Amino acid sequence: MNLVQVAHLTFGYHRARHTLDDVSFTVDQNEIVGILGPSGSGKSTLLRLLAGLETPTGGTITIAGRTVVDDSTFIQPEHRGVGMVFQDYALFPHLTVAQNVQFGLHALSKPARQARMKEVLALVHLEGFESRYPHELSGGQQQRVALARALAPRPAILLMDEPFSNLDADLRAAIRSELRDILKAADITCLFVTHDQQDVDAICDRSITLK
Ligand code: ATP
Ligand code: MG
Repeated sequence: MNLVQVAHLTFGYHRARHTLDDVSFTVDQNEIVGILGPSGSGKSTLLRLLAGLETPTGGTITIAGRTVVDDSTFIQPEHRGVGMVFQDYALFPHLTVAQNVQFGLHALSKPARQARMKEVLALVHLEGFESRYPHELSGGQQQRVALARALAPRPAILLMDEPFSNLDADLRAAIRSELRDILKAADITCLFVTHDQQDVDAICDRSITLK
């Protein structure tokens, strides 16, 4: 089943120049798709359009059977069922790991919130880190908390924008080798932006290249 359908998507930050020009692709449920392409080709912009942080000048985006944007529709970011992990993982520094992960779960009861928090921390292998603060974690651990936080509300799709670019080579390799297993265990559909073909080979089912 096509979980994401992007059709004839066009967008430019400036009137005269198209950053994305007539981009179309589909992503199946539970697929992990790499987005490659040179710097400035519009990879981050594409994720921002999917997330609802920008409005396209043309085209449509459908997520889980629902049109989230077209000429006459614009679904707000918080209602798109999209989770995001960006390069500067931006955990709340004054909140513990447990509080960071529960941040998007206010619709749940307290016991349900705590149960889900423990479940996703187990998924990223951070059991026992609940009461730590972000500054008491390594970069890779912080990145995994950001991933747990994005997965906690059970988004339909997870968007990752170069999530490893702040990590050193050893940590990148370590996370790379476990991320595919984490994503597959979470049963999630993922679009993964990277510069690095090695990331795609280790993590993704296939890739799309923006020109
Ligand atoms: P990188 O690999 O360097 O992260 P990218 O493929 O993610 O690049 P984008 O960030 O999507 O590229 O940028 C695409 C184009 O849009 C670039 O030419 C960039 O300069 C331009 N751009 C990005 N953000 C803005 C903005 N807020 N205002 C104006 N132009 C922008
Ligand atoms: Mg980018």
